[in-house]
Amino acid sequence: MTVRSITVLGATGSIGASTLDLIRRERDKWRVVALTANCQAQELARLAREFGAEMAVVADPACLPELEAALQGSGIRALGGAEALVEAAALPADLTLAAIVGCAGLAPTMAAIEQGRTVALANKEALVSAGDVMTAAVAAHGTTLLPVDSEHNAIFQCLAGNDPAHVRSITLTASGGPFRDWTLEQLAAATPAQAVKHPNWSMGAKISVDSATMFNKGLELIEAHHLFPVGLDRLRIVVHPQSVVHSMVEYRDGSTLAQLGPSDMRVPIASCLAWPERMDTPCDPLNLAAIGELTFRAPDEVRFPATRLCRQAAEQGGAAPAVLNAANEVAVAAFLAGQIAFTRIAVMVEEVLARYVPAAPVSLADVIAIDSEARNRSRLLLELN
Ligand code: NDP
Repeated sequence: MTVRSITVLGATGSIGASTLDLIRRERDKWRVVALTANCQAQELARLAREFGAEMAVVADPACLPELEAALQGSGIRALGGAEALVEAAALPADLTLAAIVGCAGLAPTMAAIEQGRTVALANKEALVSAGDVMTAAVAAHGTTLLPVDSEHNAIFQCLAGNDPAHVRSITLTASGGPFRDWTLEQLAAATPAQAVKHPNWSMGAKISVDSATMFNKGLELIEAHHLFPVGLDRLRIVVHPQSVVHSMVEYRDGSTLAQLGPSDMRVPIASCLAWPERMDTPCDPLNLAAIGELTFRAPDEVRFPATRLCRQAAEQGGAAPAVLNAANEVAVAAFLAGQIAFTRIAVMVEEVLARYVPAAPVSLADVIAIDSEARNRSRLLLELN
Protein backbone atom coordinates (compact mmCIF):
# COMPACT_ATOMS: atom_id res chain seq x y z
CA MET A 1 0.00 0.00 0.00
CA THR A 2 1.30 3.45 -0.88
CA VAL A 3 1.29 5.98 1.92
CA ARG A 4 0.66 9.54 0.73
CA SER A 5 1.63 12.69 2.58
CA ILE A 6 -0.81 15.54 3.17
CA THR A 7 -0.80 19.07 4.58
CA VAL A 8 -4.09 20.66 5.63
CA LEU A 9 -4.13 24.47 5.63
CA GLY A 10 -7.10 25.54 7.75
CA ALA A 11 -7.27 22.22 9.61
CA THR A 12 -9.53 23.55 12.40
CA GLY A 13 -12.26 24.77 10.06
CA SER A 14 -15.32 23.11 8.58
CA ILE A 15 -13.49 21.83 5.46
CA GLY A 16 -10.47 20.92 7.58
CA ALA A 17 -12.67 18.82 9.90
CA SER A 18 -14.35 17.03 6.98
CA THR A 19 -10.96 16.29 5.42
CA LEU A 20 -9.48 14.94 8.64
CA ASP A 21 -12.60 12.86 9.22
CA LEU A 22 -11.91 11.07 5.92
CA ILE A 23 -8.19 10.71 6.68
CA ARG A 24 -9.06 9.27 10.11
CA ARG A 25 -11.04 6.51 8.40
CA GLU A 26 -8.04 5.52 6.24
CA ARG A 27 -5.34 6.42 8.72
CA ASP A 28 -2.75 3.94 7.44
CA LYS A 29 -2.85 5.44 3.95
CA TRP A 30 -1.76 8.93 5.00
CA ARG A 31 1.18 10.68 6.63
CA VAL A 32 0.26 14.12 7.92
CA VAL A 33 2.99 16.69 7.31
CA ALA A 34 1.57 20.00 8.58
CA LEU A 35 -1.70 21.28 10.03
CA THR A 36 -2.51 24.98 10.38
CA ALA A 37 -5.05 27.26 12.04
CA ASN A 38 -5.44 30.94 12.80
CA CYS A 39 -5.70 30.92 16.58
CA GLN A 40 -7.55 27.78 17.73
CA ALA A 41 -4.36 26.51 19.38
CA GLN A 42 -5.91 23.84 21.61
CA GLU A 43 -7.90 22.27 18.80
CA LEU A 44 -4.90 22.42 16.46
CA ALA A 45 -2.65 20.78 19.05
CA ARG A 46 -5.24 18.05 19.62
CA LEU A 47 -5.41 17.32 15.88
CA ALA A 48 -1.62 17.49 15.45
CA ARG A 49 -1.16 14.94 18.24
CA GLU A 50 -3.94 12.67 16.94
CA PHE A 51 -2.56 12.63 13.39
CA GLY A 52 1.12 12.68 14.33
CA ALA A 53 1.76 15.83 12.29
CA GLU A 54 5.35 16.98 11.86
CA MET A 55 4.44 20.64 12.20
CA ALA A 56 1.56 22.73 13.59
CA VAL A 57 1.24 26.42 12.77
CA VAL A 58 -0.98 29.21 14.05
CA ALA A 59 -1.14 32.20 11.69
CA ASP A 60 -1.63 34.60 14.58
CA PRO A 61 1.73 34.81 16.38
CA ALA A 62 -0.02 35.84 19.62
CA CYS A 63 -1.45 32.31 19.79
CA LEU A 64 1.93 30.56 19.52
CA PRO A 65 2.67 30.32 23.28
CA GLU A 66 -0.62 28.47 23.79
CA LEU A 67 0.20 26.11 20.92
CA GLU A 68 3.72 25.50 22.23
CA ALA A 69 2.38 24.71 25.70
CA ALA A 70 -0.26 22.36 24.28
CA LEU A 71 2.33 20.50 22.17
CA GLN A 72 5.02 20.24 24.84
CA GLY A 73 6.71 16.85 24.87
CA SER A 74 5.03 15.75 21.62
CA GLY A 75 8.04 16.31 19.35
CA ILE A 76 5.77 18.26 16.97
CA ARG A 77 7.25 21.54 15.76
CA ALA A 78 5.04 24.48 16.77
CA LEU A 79 5.33 27.69 14.78
CA GLY A 80 3.44 30.97 14.52
CA GLY A 81 2.99 33.87 12.08
CA ALA A 82 2.45 34.48 8.39
CA GLU A 83 5.94 33.34 7.35
CA ALA A 84 5.61 30.10 9.29
CA LEU A 85 2.32 29.46 7.48
CA VAL A 86 4.12 29.77 4.14
CA GLU A 87 6.94 27.56 5.44
CA ALA A 88 4.44 24.85 6.37
CA ALA A 89 2.72 25.11 2.98
CA ALA A 90 6.07 24.76 1.22
CA LEU A 91 7.01 21.51 3.00
CA PRO A 92 7.00 18.61 0.54
CA ALA A 93 3.60 16.90 0.58
CA ASP A 94 1.92 14.78 -2.08
CA LEU A 95 -1.31 16.70 -1.52
CA THR A 96 -2.04 20.07 0.07
CA LEU A 97 -5.61 20.84 1.05
CA ALA A 98 -6.00 24.63 0.90
CA ALA A 99 -8.90 25.39 3.25
CA ILE A 100 -8.05 28.68 4.94
CA VAL A 101 -10.94 31.14 4.71
CA GLY A 102 -10.42 34.39 2.81
CA CYS A 103 -7.51 36.02 1.04
CA ALA A 104 -5.41 35.19 4.14
CA GLY A 105 -4.94 31.82 2.45
CA LEU A 106 -3.43 33.24 -0.71
CA ALA A 107 0.30 33.29 0.18
CA PRO A 108 0.38 29.75 1.67
CA THR A 109 -1.72 28.40 -1.21
CA MET A 110 0.71 29.93 -3.69
CA ALA A 111 3.63 28.43 -1.73
CA ALA A 112 2.00 25.01 -2.05
CA ILE A 113 1.35 25.54 -5.77
CA GLU A 114 5.02 26.44 -6.27
CA GLN A 115 6.00 22.97 -5.03
CA GLY A 116 4.57 21.59 -8.29
CA ARG A 117 2.61 18.74 -6.69
CA THR A 118 -1.15 18.46 -6.11
CA VAL A 119 -3.21 21.18 -4.44
CA ALA A 120 -6.88 20.62 -3.59
CA LEU A 121 -8.39 24.09 -3.46
CA ALA A 122 -11.30 25.01 -1.20
CA ASN A 123 -10.04 28.53 -0.51
CA LYS A 124 -11.97 30.21 -3.36
CA GLU A 125 -11.10 33.77 -2.25
CA ALA A 126 -7.42 33.07 -3.06
CA LEU A 127 -8.20 32.12 -6.67
CA VAL A 128 -10.74 34.92 -7.08
CA SER A 129 -8.19 37.51 -5.92
CA ALA A 130 -5.08 36.17 -7.63
CA GLY A 131 -6.83 34.87 -10.78
CA ASP A 132 -4.32 34.84 -13.64
CA VAL A 133 -1.37 35.12 -11.23
CA MET A 134 -2.40 31.84 -9.62
CA THR A 135 -3.28 29.99 -12.83
CA ALA A 136 0.06 31.09 -14.34
CA ALA A 137 1.86 29.65 -11.28
CA VAL A 138 -0.08 26.39 -11.63
CA ALA A 139 1.01 26.14 -15.28
CA ALA A 140 4.60 27.22 -14.63
CA HIS A 141 5.14 24.65 -11.86
CA GLY A 142 3.17 21.83 -13.48
CA THR A 143 0.88 21.67 -10.44
CA THR A 144 -2.32 19.64 -10.42
CA LEU A 145 -5.12 21.84 -9.07
CA LEU A 146 -8.16 19.88 -7.90
CA PRO A 147 -11.34 21.83 -7.07
CA VAL A 148 -12.88 21.05 -3.67
CA ASP A 149 -15.83 23.42 -3.97
CA SER A 150 -18.77 21.09 -4.64
CA GLU A 151 -19.85 22.93 -7.80
CA HIS A 152 -16.37 23.00 -9.34
CA ASN A 153 -15.70 19.46 -8.28
CA ALA A 154 -18.94 18.50 -10.04
CA ILE A 155 -17.89 20.34 -13.21
CA PHE A 156 -14.42 18.76 -13.04
CA GLN A 157 -16.06 15.34 -12.93
CA CYS A 158 -18.51 16.17 -15.75
CA LEU A 159 -15.64 17.37 -17.96
CA ALA A 160 -13.53 14.26 -17.42
CA GLY A 161 -12.77 12.52 -20.69
CA ASN A 162 -14.39 15.26 -22.79
CA ASP A 163 -12.80 17.91 -24.95
CA PRO A 164 -13.58 21.37 -23.46
CA ALA A 165 -13.91 22.64 -27.04
CA HIS A 166 -17.24 20.78 -27.21
CA VAL A 167 -18.71 22.57 -24.17
CA ARG A 168 -21.75 24.73 -24.92
CA SER A 169 -22.31 25.93 -21.37
CA ILE A 170 -21.51 25.24 -17.73
CA THR A 171 -24.23 25.77 -15.12
CA LEU A 172 -23.42 26.32 -11.47
CA THR A 173 -26.25 25.40 -9.14
CA ALA A 174 -27.01 27.57 -6.11
CA SER A 175 -29.15 26.61 -3.14
CA GLY A 176 -30.22 30.25 -2.88
CA GLY A 177 -29.25 30.27 0.79
CA PRO A 178 -31.49 30.76 3.83
CA PHE A 179 -33.09 33.96 2.46
CA ARG A 180 -33.93 32.85 -1.06
CA ASP A 181 -37.65 33.59 -0.62
CA TRP A 182 -37.31 36.72 1.53
CA THR A 183 -38.51 40.15 0.41
CA LEU A 184 -36.13 43.13 0.23
CA GLU A 185 -37.67 44.49 3.43
CA GLN A 186 -37.04 41.22 5.25
CA LEU A 187 -33.48 41.07 3.87
CA ALA A 188 -32.74 44.54 5.26
CA ALA A 189 -33.54 43.26 8.76
CA ALA A 190 -31.75 39.88 8.48
CA THR A 191 -29.54 39.07 11.48
CA PRO A 192 -26.15 37.30 11.55
CA ALA A 193 -27.70 34.35 13.42
CA GLN A 194 -30.27 33.92 10.63
CA ALA A 195 -27.63 34.31 7.91
CA VAL A 196 -25.30 31.59 9.21
CA LYS A 197 -28.12 29.04 9.43
CA HIS A 198 -27.83 27.46 5.99
CA PRO A 199 -30.73 25.16 5.09
CA ASN A 200 -28.63 22.45 3.38
CA TRP A 201 -24.94 22.77 4.23
CA SER A 202 -22.96 23.02 7.46
CA MET A 203 -20.16 25.53 6.83
CA GLY A 204 -17.97 28.25 8.37
CA ALA A 205 -19.55 31.64 9.17
CA LYS A 206 -18.03 33.60 6.28
CA ILE A 207 -19.12 31.26 3.48
CA SER A 208 -22.55 30.92 5.12
CA VAL A 209 -23.07 34.69 4.89
CA ASP A 210 -21.72 34.61 1.31
CA SER A 211 -24.27 31.95 0.57
CA ALA A 212 -27.06 34.12 1.99
CA THR A 213 -26.01 37.17 -0.10
CA MET A 214 -25.25 34.99 -3.17
CA PHE A 215 -21.69 36.37 -3.17
CA ASN A 216 -20.67 32.77 -2.74
CA LYS A 217 -22.17 31.94 -6.13
CA GLY A 218 -20.63 35.07 -7.64
CA LEU A 219 -17.19 34.16 -6.28
CA GLU A 220 -17.73 30.67 -7.66
CA LEU A 221 -18.52 32.12 -11.08
CA ILE A 222 -15.13 33.87 -11.05
CA GLU A 223 -13.50 30.69 -9.72
CA ALA A 224 -15.08 28.68 -12.56
CA HIS A 225 -13.93 31.27 -15.08
CA HIS A 226 -10.32 30.53 -14.07
CA LEU A 227 -10.62 26.78 -13.57
CA PHE A 228 -12.63 26.06 -16.72
CA PRO A 229 -11.79 28.77 -19.27
CA VAL A 230 -14.65 28.21 -21.71
CA GLY A 231 -15.58 31.93 -21.71
CA LEU A 232 -17.69 33.91 -19.24
CA ASP A 233 -20.63 33.98 -21.64
CA ARG A 234 -20.86 30.18 -21.31
CA LEU A 235 -21.07 30.22 -17.52
CA ARG A 236 -24.57 30.27 -16.02
CA ILE A 237 -26.17 30.10 -12.59
CA VAL A 238 -29.42 28.39 -11.68
CA VAL A 239 -31.07 28.28 -8.25
CA HIS A 240 -31.69 24.69 -7.14
CA PRO A 241 -32.99 24.69 -3.55
CA GLN A 242 -32.45 20.97 -2.88
CA SER A 243 -28.63 21.09 -3.47
CA VAL A 244 -28.65 17.62 -5.02
CA VAL A 245 -27.39 18.51 -8.50
CA HIS A 246 -24.03 20.13 -7.79
CA SER A 247 -23.47 21.55 -11.29
CA MET A 248 -23.81 20.65 -14.95
CA VAL A 249 -21.95 20.74 -18.24
CA GLU A 250 -23.86 21.00 -21.51
CA TYR A 251 -22.16 19.82 -24.70
CA ARG A 252 -22.67 20.97 -28.30
CA ASP A 253 -24.74 17.88 -29.16
CA GLY A 254 -27.35 18.81 -26.53
CA SER A 255 -26.17 16.31 -23.88
CA THR A 256 -26.00 17.69 -20.35
CA LEU A 257 -23.89 15.86 -17.77
CA ALA A 258 -24.60 16.57 -14.11
CA GLN A 259 -23.03 15.36 -10.88
CA LEU A 260 -25.45 14.54 -8.06
CA GLY A 261 -24.76 13.72 -4.45
CA PRO A 262 -25.66 14.40 -0.83
CA SER A 263 -25.07 17.91 0.58
CA ASP A 264 -21.95 16.80 2.42
CA MET A 265 -18.54 18.28 1.61
CA ARG A 266 -16.92 14.94 2.37
CA VAL A 267 -18.08 13.79 -1.09
CA PRO A 268 -16.10 16.36 -3.16
CA ILE A 269 -13.22 16.23 -0.65
CA ALA A 270 -13.06 12.44 -1.05
CA SER A 271 -13.03 12.89 -4.80
CA CYS A 272 -9.91 15.08 -4.42
CA LEU A 273 -8.21 12.84 -1.83
CA ALA A 274 -8.60 9.72 -3.95
CA TRP A 275 -8.28 11.30 -7.41
CA PRO A 276 -7.96 9.77 -9.99
CA GLU A 277 -9.26 6.78 -7.99
CA ARG A 278 -12.36 6.68 -5.74
CA MET A 279 -12.70 6.05 -2.01
CA ASP A 280 -15.51 5.24 0.42
CA THR A 281 -17.26 7.96 2.41
CA PRO A 282 -19.62 7.53 5.36
CA CYS A 283 -22.29 9.62 3.57
CA ASP A 284 -25.76 8.19 3.10
CA PRO A 285 -26.46 7.07 -0.47
CA LEU A 286 -28.57 9.48 -2.49
CA ASN A 287 -32.24 8.50 -2.22
CA LEU A 288 -33.98 10.33 -5.06
CA ALA A 289 -37.36 8.73 -4.38
CA ALA A 290 -37.25 10.12 -0.82
CA ILE A 291 -36.18 13.56 -2.09
CA GLY A 292 -39.05 13.43 -4.57
CA GLU A 293 -38.57 16.67 -6.47
CA LEU A 294 -35.63 18.56 -7.90
CA THR A 295 -36.57 22.14 -8.79
CA PHE A 296 -34.74 24.93 -10.61
CA ARG A 297 -35.33 28.65 -11.08
CA ALA A 298 -33.48 31.70 -12.38
CA PRO A 299 -31.55 33.80 -9.84
CA ASP A 300 -33.11 37.13 -8.76
CA GLU A 301 -30.43 39.80 -9.15
CA VAL A 302 -32.68 42.56 -7.77
CA ARG A 303 -32.87 41.04 -4.31
CA PHE A 304 -29.41 39.47 -4.65
CA PRO A 305 -27.16 41.80 -6.69
CA ALA A 306 -23.97 39.89 -5.78
CA THR A 307 -23.91 37.63 -8.84
CA ARG A 308 -24.27 40.68 -11.12
CA LEU A 309 -21.39 42.43 -9.34
CA CYS A 310 -19.18 39.35 -9.57
CA ARG A 311 -19.92 38.83 -13.26
CA GLN A 312 -19.07 42.49 -13.92
CA ALA A 313 -15.81 42.18 -11.95
CA ALA A 314 -14.91 39.04 -13.91
CA GLU A 315 -15.66 40.83 -17.21
CA GLN A 316 -13.57 43.80 -16.11
CA GLY A 317 -10.78 41.44 -15.06
CA GLY A 318 -7.44 42.78 -13.81
CA ALA A 319 -7.66 43.89 -10.18
CA ALA A 320 -11.47 44.07 -10.01
CA PRO A 321 -12.06 40.56 -8.56
CA ALA A 322 -9.41 41.15 -5.85
CA VAL A 323 -11.03 44.48 -4.92
CA LEU A 324 -14.48 42.89 -4.88
CA ASN A 325 -13.29 40.03 -2.71
CA ALA A 326 -11.53 42.28 -0.19
CA ALA A 327 -14.53 44.59 0.10
CA ASN A 328 -16.82 41.61 0.59
CA GLU A 329 -14.59 40.14 3.31
CA VAL A 330 -14.62 43.45 5.22
CA ALA A 331 -18.37 43.89 4.72
CA VAL A 332 -19.15 40.32 5.86
CA ALA A 333 -17.02 40.79 9.00
CA ALA A 334 -18.84 44.09 9.71
CA PHE A 335 -22.22 42.41 9.23
CA LEU A 336 -21.26 39.51 11.53
CA ALA A 337 -20.13 42.09 14.12
CA GLY A 338 -23.52 43.79 13.93
CA GLN A 339 -22.10 46.98 12.37
CA ILE A 340 -24.01 46.99 9.07
CA ALA A 341 -27.28 45.69 7.68
CA PHE A 342 -27.30 42.57 5.54
CA THR A 343 -28.32 44.50 2.40
CA ARG A 344 -25.45 46.94 2.93
CA ILE A 345 -22.88 44.22 2.09
CA ALA A 346 -23.51 44.35 -1.67
CA VAL A 347 -23.89 48.16 -1.62
CA MET A 348 -20.51 48.52 0.06
CA VAL A 349 -18.82 46.17 -2.40
CA GLU A 350 -20.27 48.12 -5.33
CA GLU A 351 -19.07 51.42 -3.84
CA VAL A 352 -15.51 50.18 -3.28
CA LEU A 353 -15.38 48.65 -6.77
CA ALA A 354 -16.50 51.94 -8.35
CA ARG A 355 -13.94 54.07 -6.47
CA TYR A 356 -10.82 51.91 -6.48
CA VAL A 357 -9.57 50.80 -9.90
CA PRO A 358 -5.88 49.81 -9.58
CA ALA A 359 -3.73 48.37 -12.39
CA ALA A 360 -3.94 44.64 -13.04
CA PRO A 361 -1.72 42.60 -10.70
CA VAL A 362 1.16 40.67 -12.25
CA SER A 363 2.65 39.14 -9.12
CA LEU A 364 1.59 37.78 -5.74
CA ALA A 365 2.94 40.95 -4.10
CA ASP A 366 0.68 43.05 -6.38
CA VAL A 367 -2.39 41.02 -5.41
CA ILE A 368 -1.58 41.32 -1.70
CA ALA A 369 -1.07 45.10 -2.04
CA ILE A 370 -4.39 45.52 -3.89
CA ASP A 371 -6.18 43.37 -1.31
CA SER A 372 -4.71 45.43 1.52
CA GLU A 373 -5.59 48.80 -0.03
CA ALA A 374 -9.13 47.64 -0.88
CA ARG A 375 -9.56 46.56 2.75
CA ASN A 376 -8.37 49.97 3.98
CA ARG A 377 -10.83 51.74 1.71
CA SER A 378 -13.65 49.43 2.77
CA ARG A 379 -12.93 50.10 6.46
CA LEU A 380 -12.89 53.84 5.75
CA LEU A 381 -16.31 53.52 4.13
CA LEU A 382 -17.54 51.74 7.24
CA GLU A 383 -16.35 54.61 9.42
CA LEU A 384 -18.02 57.20 7.18
CA ASN A 385 -21.39 55.46 7.37
P1 NDP B 1 -13.99 27.99 8.61
O1 NDP B 1 -14.23 29.37 9.08
O2 NDP B 1 -14.78 26.88 9.18
O3 NDP B 1 -12.43 27.62 8.82
C1 NDP B 1 -11.43 28.48 8.38
C2 NDP B 1 -10.04 27.91 8.67
O4 NDP B 1 -9.09 28.92 8.29
C3 NDP B 1 -9.79 27.62 10.15
O5 NDP B 1 -8.83 26.61 10.26
C4 NDP B 1 -9.21 28.96 10.66
O6 NDP B 1 -8.44 28.84 11.84
C5 NDP B 1 -8.35 29.34 9.48
N1 NDP B 1 -8.13 30.77 9.39
C6 NDP B 1 -9.04 31.75 9.60
N2 NDP B 1 -8.48 32.97 9.43
C7 NDP B 1 -7.18 32.74 9.13
C8 NDP B 1 -6.07 33.59 8.88
N3 NDP B 1 -6.19 34.93 8.91
N4 NDP B 1 -4.87 33.03 8.61
C9 NDP B 1 -4.73 31.69 8.58
N5 NDP B 1 -5.74 30.82 8.83
C10 NDP B 1 -6.95 31.35 9.10
O7 NDP B 1 -14.11 28.02 7.02
P2 NDP B 1 -14.63 26.87 6.05
O8 NDP B 1 -13.94 25.59 6.36
O9 NDP B 1 -16.10 26.90 5.97
O10 NDP B 1 -14.12 27.41 4.63
C11 NDP B 1 -12.76 27.37 4.27
C12 NDP B 1 -12.64 27.73 2.80
O11 NDP B 1 -13.30 26.74 2.03
C13 NDP B 1 -13.32 29.07 2.43
O12 NDP B 1 -12.59 29.70 1.44
C14 NDP B 1 -14.67 28.64 1.89
O13 NDP B 1 -15.20 29.55 0.96
C15 NDP B 1 -14.30 27.32 1.20
N6 NDP B 1 -15.41 26.39 1.09
C16 NDP B 1 -16.04 25.95 2.21
C17 NDP B 1 -17.12 25.09 2.13
C18 NDP B 1 -17.78 24.54 3.36
O14 NDP B 1 -18.68 23.71 3.23
N7 NDP B 1 -17.42 24.96 4.55
C19 NDP B 1 -17.61 24.63 0.81
C20 NDP B 1 -16.82 25.10 -0.29
C21 NDP B 1 -15.78 25.95 -0.16
P3 NDP B 1 -9.12 29.05 13.32
O15 NDP B 1 -10.00 27.86 13.53
O16 NDP B 1 -7.96 29.09 14.24
O17 NDP B 1 -9.89 30.34 13.24
